[in-house]
Amino acid sequence: MSALSQRDPEIAAIVARERTRQVETLEMIASENYASAAVLEATGSVFTNKYAEGYPGKRYYAGNQFSDQVETAAIERARALFGMDHVNVQPTSGAEANMAAYFATIQPGDTVMGLNLDQGGHLTHGSPVNFSGRLYNFVPYTVDRESEVIDMAAVRDLARQSKPKVIVAGYTAYPRAIDFAAFAEVAKDAGALLMVDMSHIAGLVAGGYHMSPTGLADLVTTTTHKTLRGPRGGMIMANAELAEAVDKAVFPGTQGGPHLHSIAGKAVAFGEALKPEFKEYACRIVENAAALAEALVQGGLRLVSGGTDNHLILADCNSMNISGLKAQNALQGAGIITNKNTIPYDTRSPFIGSGLRLGTPALTSRGMGPAEMQRVAAWIVRVLRDPDGDGVRETVRLEVAEFARAFAVPGITDAQA
Ligand SMILES: *Cc1c(COP(=O)(O)O)cnc(C)c1O
Repeated sequence: MSALSQRDPEIAAIVARERTRQVETLEMIASENYASAAVLEATGSVFTNKYAEGYPGKRYYAGNQFSDQVETAAIERARALFGMDHVNVQPTSGAEANMAAYFATIQPGDTVMGLNLDQGGHLTHGSPVNFSGRLYNFVPYTVDRESEVIDMAAVRDLARQSKPKVIVAGYTAYPRAIDFAAFAEVAKDAGALLMVDMSHIAGLVAGGYHMSPTGLADLVTTTTHKTLRGPRGGMIMANAELAEAVDKAVFPGTQGGPHLHSIAGKAVAFGEALKPEFKEYACRIVENAAALAEALVQGGLRLVSGGTDNHLILADCNSMNISGLKAQNALQGAGIITNKNTIPYDTRSPFIGSGLRLGTPALTSRGMGPAEMQRVAAWIVRVLRDPDGDGVRETVRLEVAEFARAFAVPGITDAQA
């Protein structure tokens, strides 16, 4: 019996139910993934007990000889993985990483350009209800109405006009490749810094399946728990000139003691991402997304921009005559976990949305391939064609649970499942 089930059966039972949920459903939220057993072990380690305000070699408290080792390992592995001059592994999330990145580079009131939030930008790229929109003057760029792809000429014109201090590239719901080289040119032309938020695609960058921002961006922020498959957390990487400003902005600027247990998990995840298998993993994520996209289109769904270059797909649910919210809820009833999303120039509110965002990172982590994506697409289409059909939902839920059980979830042993 585990310590948790002995000491706290109530929480142990909830955790067990969540484990079963993860085993029996198809996780298609594009920002989610499964950390390995090794990452989970490091993240659940005794480092959770330690305060280590400061940085390796410069801590405010005693007893940090091993904190220094684990944080240094995480930094060195991230540097080996992405090749940026400077790495700060202390941000506790992607949002914290972005906050510190802004703190390191701009002042309240300064102008920043980011992708329109309804078109795939993140909350921390200028939402009026987020600190970013309250502190800074965000000027949104947009995707082209026809192609639904970012129009770099329009971005350049807007940058010349609005003279931002920082341009943010990197999104939460954009299915196409981002041309960081073109963004670097636009930023240079406008006298702005380029900040790449590669939260969603970090694993593809690590594996070589998306253009790397290294050598192009002044500043790179990321989460560590999405395609990168690490613990929940964030990271900032920067050119040497920004190193000191970044470190100060993280601590003491925006955070207190670092989460060393997460940093230990990050070190393990970066180690895994440095292995040759991770390249294959990144390749399969993209292959699976392409296979899923093709099958969904054949099933009658319109995809924003017509397809995908990365790990995610944004389906236009108008092509099924339903809203994104309705699609999300119907699929949840069938054991397929996704999220509603706005689509470019959406006429529905963000809470309802016309889009459905689907990602392949988690299914790929379970070992599924293009053949499985066709089965998954068939289930999705079946449910979306009859979103009110209780019978269809229930049939698909049972089929999905049986199918899903055949693909082990990393980090969950057979005995636990
Ligand atoms: C997920 C995400 C974030 C925020 O990450 P959290 O860890 O949830 O705070 C920031 N930017 C982008 C582009 C993201 O996709």
